[in-house]
Amino acid sequence: MTMTPPAIGFVSLGCPKNLVDSERILTQLRAEGYRLVPSYEEAALVIVNTCGFIDAAVEESLGAIGEALDANGAVIVTGCLGAREEEIRARYPQVLGITGPHAYEEVMALVHRRLPPPHDPWSSLIPPQGVKLTPRHYAYLKISEGCNHRCTFCIIPSLRGDLMSRPLSEVAAEAERLVASGVRELLVVSQDTSAYGLDLKYRPDFWQGRPLETRIESLARVLGELPAWVRLHYVYPYPQVDRLIPLMAEGKILPYLDMPLQHGSQSILKAMGRPAATEKVLDRIAQWRKACPELVLRSTFIVGFPGETEADFEILLEFLREARLDRVGAFAYSPVAGAAANEFPNAVPEEVKQERLVRFMKVQAAISAEKLAQKVGSRMIVLVDEVNDEAILARGPGDAPEIDGHVILPPEWELEPGDFVEVEITGADEHDLRAVPVT
Ligand code: SF4
Repeated sequence: MTMTPPAIGFVSLGCPKNLVDSERILTQLRAEGYRLVPSYEEAALVIVNTCGFIDAAVEESLGAIGEALDANGAVIVTGCLGAREEEIRARYPQVLGITGPHAYEEVMALVHRRLPPPHDPWSSLIPPQGVKLTPRHYAYLKISEGCNHRCTFCIIPSLRGDLMSRPLSEVAAEAERLVASGVRELLVVSQDTSAYGLDLKYRPDFWQGRPLETRIESLARVLGELPAWVRLHYVYPYPQVDRLIPLMAEGKILPYLDMPLQHGSQSILKAMGRPAATEKVLDRIAQWRKACPELVLRSTFIVGFPGETEADFEILLEFLREARLDRVGAFAYSPVAGAAANEFPNAVPEEVKQERLVRFMKVQAAISAEKLAQKVGSRMIVLVDEVNDEAILARGPGDAPEIDGHVILPPEWELEPGDFVEVEITGADEHDLRAVPVT
């Protein structure tokens, strides 16, 4: 069952540096599916990002905390005044938590403790296998809200409305700030990344004096100029995606596309309310690979949608064998309260869904393992995610954080999270690669 995502109020005080912190926290909250609301009354929790620079700012910050406590009661304090915890505690012992400035992870941990993040596979942009706190070296960059499609299994349009793209200059400025603050990888997310700008009729915006149409292609170009990896998620295979492939081939953005295809059978795609041109998708994939051989394709599928016959499922397996996608996630269909598909006849029995899911994953596991094995002996640049006693976990251009695999290095190298390093691939299984740094 899907529930309305928890609502959070936010008060941001102080200088532009504090504003960047606020935006970073807000971006993370949105990426994890929280709603941001403009009033204390609607919020389940209020975050006050304070300033402590001069006495007047201290007074203003303390006043804002008091106001939020009176109106709402559940308050987290962060920012410069947070460094003077005793002063705040003395006046307001009931605040839920206090952190100093730039404490994004701690603020998110306090939020999670009070309001666990929503975990709906259809509405959460963060993968369900655990909302791990995003390390500082990568960040989600949300470019739009809502969606113009009406997929029959999904209620996002009724929850979040039609597509609303953020202005290109605003997204570019946020990306620039993130990179300046140490982010090494930007993960572009939305419900429909290819459609970016459609609602604004692709109107031109200005970035660094240049007029640029509000389109995914121009945004990808701008992001590609930053000294960071740029990875695109939720890209539907529309014709405009063809124009992104050269940017990948030129190394401007990562040669990676996360493209939720959902099924391979025309009749099921039709019932899902999705474009049903499977043949065209296969042709397009073949052309993309020709133009950019290192392209890594990830997709998600639903098995056991109402009305899915054994023949439809076989078509899906055949599609999978032909498409030879690199990374694939799959769900057994489950109804979401309020979705049109709930009323559809011919529901697939639970045990059939589960049996199909197992068959599906078996076919894909062999493809993924084969594709990863082809990388053994090659060299690639990887980004270090985590260093522990047993191993160094890194990711290559083909591995998105949280959802894909790792490139695993032996622990004895002097590396830190956020480092880029060239490695040689020495081994592979169906999910991860093993490698050693090139010396
Ligand atoms: S494209 Fe379909 S599944 Fe995705 S958000 Fe829009 S309606 Fe939902």
